[in-house]
Amino acid sequence: MHITILTLFPEMVVPFFTSSIMKRAVEKGIITYDVIDFRDFAEGVHRKADDIPYGGGAGMVIMPEPLSRALDSVGAQGKRVVFPTPSGRLLTERYAEELAREEELVFICGHYEGIDQRVIDRYVTDEISIGDYVLSSGETASIVVIDALYRLIEGVISSESLDEESFTSPLLEYPQYTRPERYCNKSVPEVLLSGHHRHIAQWRLDRRLEKTMHSRPDLLSDASLSIDERKRLLFILDKEDRRWTLSEL
Ligand code: SAM
Repeated sequence: MHITILTLFPEMVVPFFTSSIMKRAVEKGIITYDVIDFRDFAEGVHRKADDIPYGGGAGMVIMPEPLSRALDSVGAQGKRVVFPTPSGRLLTERYAEELAREEELVFICGHYEGIDQRVIDRYVTDEISIGDYVLSSGETASIVVIDALYRLIEGVISSESLDEESFTSPLLEYPQYTRPERYCNKSVPEVLLSGHHRHIAQWRLDRRLEKTMHSRPDLLSDASLSIDERKRLLFILDKEDRRWTLSEL
């Protein structure tokens, strides 16, 4: 996949591509990228790329011309162009999977109050929100979107790592432990040391059900749980003295 990022702050974006798992994906040639400073497409001595909003109000808005010149320089029209914005469609694992199937993505990083609407109307195919809160920059939001999608591309991480993760199925992930066996007087759950695969699988399923029930009960209402999973959930609820029936799940 080729990723192009248009930004006024390349120094916020480049380290993501030169570190950790993304660095390896780039070295393997799975990801190629360009980080473009669209201030280079601004005119005048001061290379001004933002201005005050028409109609008044606080803050600055990114001007259309420097950004559209930068977009034209990468042939953005006709490509999938992502603009992260709090007013966009909410990013989910399913949406990330859809984007991960593209061969090329262009990201526009907003800043200040945002970008001129006419650029959005002309080029943007996907306005994406990463959650119901406001960040100060589209650089961090773009990195979140890219991070969510690129790890789903074949060869970036092992497929086993993805299998039991939160949101791959409707259930959240089980807790993880590593060495040492005792830490601050707390031991690793015994079953994980038993080598008994069926018991470990059962323990992990129970923890996933518990975690989902406590942190995100809304996920359970959409969950297509198997009969066995429903039985386990009822058992857990029963232990906690919460009496639900199968039809409520
Ligand atoms: N005035 C905008 C509004 O109220 O929707 C917020 C602008 S915000 C201070 C600056 C930039 O950060 C936005 O243009 C957008 O690119 C990015 N941003 C902030 N919060 C975001 C979110 N929840 N999801 C995606 N992008 C976000």
